[in-house]
Amino acid sequence: MAVDSPLSSQLGPPVCERDAKALHFIEETTSHADSVQDRVLTEILTRNSQTEYLTRFKLNGATDRETFKSKLPIITYEDLQPEIHRIANGDRSAILSAHPISEFLTSSGTSAGERKLMPTIKEELDRRRLLYSLLMPVMNLYVPGLERGKGLYFLFVKSETRTPGGLLARPVLTSYYKSDHFKTRPYDPYNVYTSPNEAILCPDSFQSMYAQMLCGLLQRQQVLRVGAVFASGLLRAIRFLQLNWPQLTQDIETGALNPKLTDPSLREYMDKILKPNPELAEYVRHECSKDNWEGIIARIWQNTKYLDVIVTGAMAQYIPTLDYYSGGLPLACTMYASSECYFGLNLNPMCKPSQVSYTIMPNMAYFEFLPHDPNSFGFPRDSPPKLVDLVDVEVGKEYELVITTYAGLYRYRVGDILRVTGFHNSAPQFHFVRRKNVLLSIDSDKTDEAELQKAVENASRLLREFNTSVVEYTSYADTRTIPGHYVIYWELLGKDSTNSPTDEVLKQCCLAMEESLNSVYRQGRVADNSIGPLEIRVVKNGTFEELMDYAISRGASINQYKVPRCVNFTPIMELLDYRVVSSHFSPASPHWTPERR
Ligand code: AMP
Repeated sequence: MAVDSPLSSQLGPPVCERDAKALHFIEETTSHADSVQDRVLTEILTRNSQTEYLTRFKLNGATDRETFKSKLPIITYEDLQPEIHRIANGDRSAILSAHPISEFLTSSGTSAGERKLMPTIKEELDRRRLLYSLLMPVMNLYVPGLERGKGLYFLFVKSETRTPGGLLARPVLTSYYKSDHFKTRPYDPYNVYTSPNEAILCPDSFQSMYAQMLCGLLQRQQVLRVGAVFASGLLRAIRFLQLNWPQLTQDIETGALNPKLTDPSLREYMDKILKPNPELAEYVRHECSKDNWEGIIARIWQNTKYLDVIVTGAMAQYIPTLDYYSGGLPLACTMYASSECYFGLNLNPMCKPSQVSYTIMPNMAYFEFLPHDPNSFGFPRDSPPKLVDLVDVEVGKEYELVITTYAGLYRYRVGDILRVTGFHNSAPQFHFVRRKNVLLSIDSDKTDEAELQKAVENASRLLREFNTSVVEYTSYADTRTIPGHYVIYWELLGKDSTNSPTDEVLKQCCLAMEESLNSVYRQGRVADNSIGPLEIRVVKNGTFEELMDYAISRGASINQYKVPRCVNFTPIMELLDYRVVSSHFSPASPHWTPERR
């Protein structure tokens, strides 16, 4: 097949016919980005023309951009809640989409403390698979020889529930891993995992992780890449190895599987591949028992060429720790996606994390861009701002992503802020700047300022009987520990020095804060163990005044100074930590169940 691909012509030919096809598809789609966008919008509006939503806005079957833009409002999740509620409660009429809603995807973004429910339709799985199928052909251009080994990827399913109307509600990756698209994927020599489906699909997170780690150790020589979806997940796997290597190496030595692994299909699989291998056990034990774990990934999996994890956005905070454990292996960020829609991929995946740009694939949805002004607070309903089309964004400018999807989201604000870095053919490439309104994040949790404020208010009620109040606070996502945890700095004002709150009371304040935080946070604490216990650090009186003095000395205006509700600038952290008088950790897990409250 003749391929006229700037990607492959710059980097050498595709390694196989399948890659050639994928690269050709990328070139075709990005070269005709505007006409692909036109087709996508027409398809979405044509098939859904009779839906309640489009009828309400009197689109009358129009499929052109102008009419669409003039009649449909730009919306957020909150605007769609009545429709989502009806679908969740069993209304099967064509409310948003002419195709039946097959399930809800539970986003890590929350609304009123609970995960957002994103409606999806069956064929979206094909679109997700399509995007996944483009990743290795691009990677193969940069890293040769990946067909000679395997990928050690830590992939997990999470719990799922049903809505009152009987639809499944689960995270998008759980939906994907449980689909036939993933489970019965054809053999692809460039994309072989060390983890079997039995381990990935095991609902018990300990057993799943244990089996995936064991498989990775057993095949250590074959591992050419190590990954997880997010950086935090890969670090959790390293922590797991730190805690469990004695048992893992015993299993390898004896060929007998840890009795804690009780899942029948997992046991059956592991029993087949686990044979006594004292030499391997000794090697792993020797490496793991050293005090210094620097470069442990490269020491155990010596043939690893890169780590495949997302380290853009909030995950950038993990880059130094990943560098430490990997001995500086390249970090590849391959794709940009969400529960609402998979957006695009990184065409230069071996670039430095700070230079990662994602190319939005014009076939995935209809994309619009809301020019982002960091100083404005929303926009008036009667004069909506002008949104820009995919091919019309300008290099250097920031935008908020707005999508119209096949599953029935129309002009929906995703909440991500992106900066245009360039173009691949006529498709723009974006640097992920940040998610709007996120103050604290350790894993997939996203805590905003209002949630933090409410949590502090709720917790500080426990101080009333001590005549004590919280006069100022700020926060910090401490990722030096694995898992990371939230640190909240409190300056207290006590009116009665003979009756100060005790350590026990302050611990209860930590727990009260955790109880107030959203369900994604609490799931991370309880079910995923991806977030450690929340910590309150009480600082000396006057600390926040010093913080203000410091900010003013660096040019902040005294009139406009506001206490930052989250800090991560080293001199400020040092200022705060130097003034800590006591520190307290949450003594228990907060309440969490898969069911919505
Ligand atoms: P969810 O809806 O829970 O699947 O989360 C999707 C969100 O995760 C996106 O809207 C982004 O804010 C974030 N995200 C996904 N992929 C990336 C990426 N490659 N880099 C930075 N942030 C990402």
